[in-house]
Amino acid sequence: MNVADSELVMTILKQNGFDRAENIETADVILFNTCSVRQHAEERVLGRINNEMRHKSLKDVKIGVIGCMAQRLGTELADLSRGVDFVVGVDQYDKLPEIIRSSFREEFLSYTDVDNEQLYPAIIPQHQDNLKAFITIMRGCNNFCSYCIVPYTRGRERSRSPLEIIEDVKKAGEQGLREIMLLGQNVNSYSYEEINFPQLLRMVNEIPSIKRIRFTTSHPKDLSDELIETMADTDKVCEHFHLAMQSGDNEILKRMNRGYTAEHYYDLTVKLRQAIPEIAITTDVIAGFPGETEEQFQRTYDIMQKIEFDHAYMFKYSSRSGTRAAEFLDQVPEEIRLERLQRLIKQQEVITTRKYKNAIGSVREIYVENISRRSQEEVSGKTRDFKVTVFPGDSQLIGKFVNVKIVEAAGWTLKGKLLK
Ligand code: SAH
Ligand code: SF4
Repeated sequence: MNVADSELVMTILKQNGFDRAENIETADVILFNTCSVRQHAEERVLGRINNEMRHKSLKDVKIGVIGCMAQRLGTELADLSRGVDFVVGVDQYDKLPEIIRSSFREEFLSYTDVDNEQLYPAIIPQHQDNLKAFITIMRGCNNFCSYCIVPYTRGRERSRSPLEIIEDVKKAGEQGLREIMLLGQNVNSYSYEEINFPQLLRMVNEIPSIKRIRFTTSHPKDLSDELIETMADTDKVCEHFHLAMQSGDNEILKRMNRGYTAEHYYDLTVKLRQAIPEIAITTDVIAGFPGETEEQFQRTYDIMQKIEFDHAYMFKYSSRSGTRAAEFLDQVPEEIRLERLQRLIKQQEVITTRKYKNAIGSVREIYVENISRRSQEEVSGKTRDFKVTVFPGDSQLIGKFVNVKIVEAAGWTLKGKLLK
């Protein structure tokens, strides 16, 4: 999502006479687009700002912070880092050109007004990647999961017009980008006049230049049968579903304000696999949410064993001030959160390895994205079900769709042979 927002910001700046610097040494302005979801993300930003302060002693460089951290902290950022010259929240990006110019004349500036209707209409972002595009279909979130800062930093949920989305997708296709990822905090609740998310998917599926469609993320409480059916019968929508589970315990799910039970979540995975047998399911899980007992944690551990996700993003709970869970009195000690997280990771590694090994012998379509990081003689890309696959080949294959026979699974990478 931040990649998409950075592209939006870059487009706004380019339209107003700014250009991207070749490298940080030649930049007059350094912008940090930030995330507030976990404390660790914010700490890293402060570290990076401190690192880049050295440019200020060489010339008049301005440092700006944008994104959720800017929205959350506003003027407080000036106290946390003396390097920051301006702070611009998520709904004020159209004022950036003016703010940057003012920052060369004025002291610290902060623009963090909330605009719950801001959708940046009429700005079709320039996508930075040559092969795939992240396309924002909605902004904000109304779910208020009790641990989550997003509804506070990003404001109320609103959907972008399908006409603009289609224009954005078509433009990406004309530029040769063959894969798109539709983005929203909860795409299942996309709604614009009469159009819902499955209908939007069908519209995008009709655009000839696009070969693959992905989307993220989905909320289990809003995942409809209509969406599952749509995935099953649209050829371009890829066989991958990211569905954040967060916990396998009903009491914890309730305290998280997630609006579903572990049984409901499990049933959704069964339905998805029945409708789309080759689907990969991935998830997000939090270890050590306030009040989580060993027994409750064990339920998360067990259901992950039962469901067998292809991959899971696992986090230890991070207290975010302003959220409801931050006020809960029964916070789990840090070392227990970490220890539980490690147990989840260890188990998931075994499951992921097993899942990846299942692919051996099959033939997969790969969208070749780059030269492999390990070897110049190999290229890498993804299967439709989102697995990185490496195989012998040269740079001429980049941007092509090829069939590859999977011969090996090395950790979270598949290895294959190009079929002629
Ligand atoms: N809208 C998305 C999630 C966006 S945040 C969804 O609901 O699926 C991405 C992930 O970060 C969440 O799914 C959650 O697992 C994790 N996360 C959010 N807040 C967190 C917190 N306070 N501590 C730890 N992990 C958190
Ligand atoms: Fe956060 Fe929940 Fe909204 Fe996702 S759905 S962004 S976890 S509040």
